[in-house]
Parts: sequence; structure tokens; C-alpha cells
Amino acid sequence: MARWKCGVEGCGGRFEDVESVIIHQTTEHERHECKVCGTIVPEGYFAIRHAFDEHTRAEFVRAYEADSTAVRIREDIKDTVESEADLNSVVQTLREKGAL
Ligand SMILES: [Zn+2]
Ligand SMILES: [Zn+2]
Repeated sequence: MARWKCGVEGCGGRFEDVESVIIHQTTEHERHECKVCGTIVPEGYFAIRHAFDEHTRAEFVRAYEADSTAVRIREDIKDTVESEADLNSVVQTLREKGAL
């Protein structure tokens, strides 16, 4: 069974490696509009990274009406992706596809 699942609501796509999940989220899902600053970012990992790198947890909680569990789940996803994924190669692939 494929190990990685796309966490975007209503998707359920499964993939063999984490890089494929990020590429899928970036190329096949609608872009996400950040509720804090209005920036359009790719759905999935890049949306999470944007939220936590660019904004404080307090801003995220307020804008998304999130609770601490929702924050922790996203932080866990971000940590897992960043420890497992070759993000340089993901970004390069996405640039080649014209998706970034
Ligand atoms: Zn998906
Ligand atoms: Zn933002």
C-alpha cells in the first residue's frame, strides 16, 4: 500500500513517496488563498509552510478559527515532510512543469 496520503480535504490520493504528494498537491489541486495575508499559494505542504513560516501561530489560529490540535497536526506534517522530502528536487521539478 502506498505510504503517503494527500491530506487535502476530500482527496484521498495515495503515493509511494512524499515528493510525489507535494507535486500532486501543487499541480492538481486548486491554489489556496492564505486567510491571513491573501497570498495565493499551492495547496497542501506549501500552504502549511507559508502559514507557519510567514505568520505566527496566533495569526493562523485567528484567521482559520483553528485550535491547538489543528496547529499541531500541521506542524507535524511540516516536520515530517521537511525531514523526509528532497525539497530541492521537488521545487526543481515544479519549476520545470511551470507550476511554481
Ligand atoms: Zn490530493
Ligand atoms: Zn499568508
